[in-house]
Amino acid sequence: MFGSRNSRGESVTCIACGESIPRSDAREYDKHGDRWDRRDKAFEHLCKACFADLCQQPRDGLETTLDAAGAGETDRATFLERFRELSEDDANRD
Ligand SMILES: [Zn+2]
Repeated sequence: MFGSRNSRGESVTCIACGESIPRSDAREYDKHGDRWDRRDKAFEHLCKACFADLCQQPRDGLETTLDAAGAGETDRATFLERFRELSEDDANRD
């Protein structure tokens, strides 16, 4: 009766790991940087874990990596593959 499980509400997909997460738990990420204009836009979402992970790199690096990986433009499998490659490149750069 007092089922407070949040069963309604959308779920979204984390662009980095592909997990389905409740929208309320997701971090919205707009690679275009203008959150105000929502027309014709698909927002990207990150789960908390990936968000925390990604935010350890400078925002500029994240933008570049996501963009280079084709966020929002390629299908998810391709994006994830590229994203992982790019991230590994970054990690191996030292
Ligand atoms: Zn994730």
